[in-house]
Amino acid sequence: MRLLLHACCGPCSLEPLRLLLEEGHDITIAYMNSNIHPQAEYEHRRDTLMEFAREQGIPVVEGVYSPKAWANTAGVYANDPAMRPWRCRACYRQRLDEACDYALTNGFDGVATTLTVSPYQYTDIIREELEAACALRGLVPVFRDYTDQYPEATRRSKALGMYRQNYCGCAVSKKEAEQEREERRIERAAAKAAKLAAEAPKRAAAEAARAKKRAERQAYAEKRAAQRAALKAYKQAHPSDAQDE
Ligand code: SF4
Repeated sequence: MRLLLHACCGPCSLEPLRLLLEEGHDITIAYMNSNIHPQAEYEHRRDTLMEFAREQGIPVVEGVYSPKAWANTAGVYANDPAMRPWRCRACYRQRLDEACDYALTNGFDGVATTLTVSPYQYTDIIREELEAACALRGLVPVFRDYTDQYPEATRRSKALGMYRQNYCGCAVSKKEAEQEREERRIERAAAKAAKLAAEAPKRAAAEAARAKKRAERQAYAEKRAAQRAALKAYKQAHPSDAQDE
């Protein structure tokens, strides 16, 4: 069928595109992601996707980048972390509605999405929103759960040197990802400090053993020096003994 594939970024498009082409669909990619903040990030992800699509010979249509539209829908839940499922649902809805509107007015039969590649997304909610958006417009929802493709998408995108973002898209997710990275950094530092503390007695014992050895070597050197000095003094006092030797 003529299929519009809503794509969130280049890395997440790799496996869905491959698998949907294998199914025999005639595919156009739709980059419709007003959730992405800031604009430079939106453009970076878009350009990465477009370069990949161009190499594959797949057409890409771009939506209207409207952070305001996102702020008025998903963004209303931005200040309450407990509302994340609602925020993400509204976010999926806004993007999939835009894709489905485009599909309807441009003669597509069905709509699919790459959103399910990421294991950090709400797969069931994506399914519900895709099916609802398609049902409203008489389109076929080509829902596929691509979560199991995530490792391969990660491997291939790294191998291709593709830009890989480290947060979902919206300003809230950017901040959350930064906080999580900071928490992980603090955890790693604490674990390292605990390991060093646990190893401290062992290190102190090793250092004490080394100090003991140094002291023994020093005492031996001093003893030998004293012996040599005594011998020298003896020889000076008894030169005739020295000649007999
Ligand atoms: S975390 Fe991702 S899916 Fe959820 S609202 Fe933000 S950009 Fe949208």
